[in-house]
Amino acid sequence: MQYLGVELIKPKAAFFDFSCCEGCQLQIANNENKLLDFISLVEVVNFREILTERNNDYDIAFIEGSITRKDEIDRLKKIREKAKILVAFGTCASFGGINKLKNKFKDIEWVKKEVYGNCPIETNDKVMAVNEVVKVDFYIYGCPVNKSEVEAIVQSIALGREFRYLKHPVCFRCKEKQNICLYEMGKICMGPLTRAGCGARCPSNGNSCIGCRGPAEEPNIEFMKTIMIKNGFTERQIRDKFELFSAFKE
Ligand code: SF4
Ligand code: SF4
Ligand code: SF4
Repeated sequence: MQYLGVELIKPKAAFFDFSCCEGCQLQIANNENKLLDFISLVEVVNFREILTERNNDYDIAFIEGSITRKDEIDRLKKIREKAKILVAFGTCASFGGINKLKNKFKDIEWVKKEVYGNCPIETNDKVMAVNEVVKVDFYIYGCPVNKSEVEAIVQSIALGREFRYLKHPVCFRCKEKQNICLYEMGKICMGPLTRAGCGARCPSNGNSCIGCRGPAEEPNIEFMKTIMIKNGFTERQIRDKFELFSAFKE
């Protein structure tokens, strides 16, 4: 690839899945009309869902999933040693995600037995986000990630440009779309606290935002809780929303 007659070096990108549903990788694999553009930006050397070849020579490592097993810690550390840039790819990787609900249980042995039965799997007592094990250079939020945002972030990384995350909450985009606020329909919504960038996907389809992209810049959590309580939601309902992805620190 050339730009103004200068040969550009395409960084080698590798995607690695840890404990997750692989829905974030699927977003890229399913993005047929833009997949070729994406692949022209970087040389994809490892991507289980679209490539059979494997290559351990890479510059950028995309880590999907949270860290739940002992062997995953070693594997992740080895990837970090090789990668020049490490990206937490999706909410599981960025915050721990749904998997981190396990950490709420007091009796971890009971959880292990319920999930794995007698399978000899060595799990960690605690589920961890990627940055609890290694240094993370970039985060791509969302459960699943937003395809256009992934392209924009990968473009920035490949061209060495700064990527500016949206700072405002989902409500901004929701209002731009002139949706009727779900609070007016008696539903709870995490839109006022959650980072925009998904196009207010859920409220635009009549569903509450459940905070999958994590907190917007400086979220006013206490104030929002007061509003939720004033709107008749119970502490349990509120806690469920805040804890779902382990993305909000209260
Ligand atoms: S962030 Fe969501 S879609 Fe992505 S791997 Fe985790 S559970 Fe799946
Ligand atoms: S529906 Fe949710 S995201 Fe939309 S304006 Fe209301 S609180 Fe904000
Ligand atoms: S509206 Fe909320 S839950 Fe839905 S995709 Fe956007 S951030 Fe995630």
